[in-house]
Amino acid sequence: MNVIQSLINKAFVNSEKATIIPIHRLQNVRNEIDQFKHNEKLNGFQKWIVDDLYTFDVPNVGFSVKSIILIAIPHPLYANVEFVYGDRTYNFLSPVMSDFENTENDLKKGLSSLKYQVAAASKIPLKRLAVQSGLAVYGKNNISYIDEMGSNFSFVGYYSDIPCDDAYWTDVTMASECTNCNACLNNCPTQAIQKGRFLIDNERCLSYLNESGEPFPDWLPNTVHHCVYDCLKCQIVCPMNKEQKNNVVGPIRFTESETNNLISGVGFEDDSDSFQKKAKYLGFHQWPDGIAKNIKVLIEVGNQENILTS
Ligand code: SF4
Ligand code: SF4
Repeated sequence: MNVIQSLINKAFVNSEKATIIPIHRLQNVRNEIDQFKHNEKLNGFQKWIVDDLYTFDVPNVGFSVKSIILIAIPHPLYANVEFVYGDRTYNFLSPVMSDFENTENDLKKGLSSLKYQVAAASKIPLKRLAVQSGLAVYGKNNISYIDEMGSNFSFVGYYSDIPCDDAYWTDVTMASECTNCNACLNNCPTQAIQKGRFLIDNERCLSYLNESGEPFPDWLPNTVHHCVYDCLKCQIVCPMNKEQKNNVVGPIRFTESETNNLISGVGFEDDSDSFQKKAKYLGFHQWPDGIAKNIKVLIEVGNQENILTS
């Protein structure tokens, strides 16, 4: 680990893991993605990701950008969430957000004495950069994993003016743990993970289907739903997450009136502070239409399956 990288890591006190890569690697990734677009048959969502989601030109951030700092911020594997509705309490799972604000404050504090600057880099392919720089590995489910964190983190990236020598760089490969394992493929409720192909069919992935406010497609059985958003099944069964099984929070409870507000799409900012705190912690504010749709279908089906024991 170089001196700068060890200084960056020292900035964090909440078990984040970070790496720094030279800015020119962003252009390597752009070229590889261009090549990839021509070689692979992509669905509409994948085409949108490669054509429109990312920005490879470095914006004017007020300083000369020399590197990218990639940080993985931990979060629990999931939260148990309770919704009171009618005369019943329903229990479902939800992802949990990382504390991005806290990490940014620590990073800025840590670097300020060194007179370096950072600016958020939100539209770069963080997961791919993390894998190619050796911070993470890809699983067969296209989720990324880090030693001692499993898949329980979210990435954040910053442009910085910290000089960075060329560092470790590798092709996109799959984790060695996947070689003799098909646990995610066998447990995927929508057959989104494909045998013999690295790319999952992300238009079949529940996380894609339930984050949108669009109606669920006809081919999707109601019985597959178990999460307020996202899915988590392939992460919960993954051996690379075995140390994370107990990293779970909750129950986090929503009263009947809060549940009704979530279902009817009442603006998050119109509810109480305690509601907003819970909703933000769980990330509900990101997908208000999807959350309303999902809670409705979860309650309709009355699906209280415990996916840890299924
Ligand atoms: S469940 Fe198995 S195959 Fe799937 S990502 Fe985890 S280790 Fe790889
Ligand atoms: S998140 Fe769910 S639906 Fe998507 S690939 Fe994983 S198990 Fe399949």
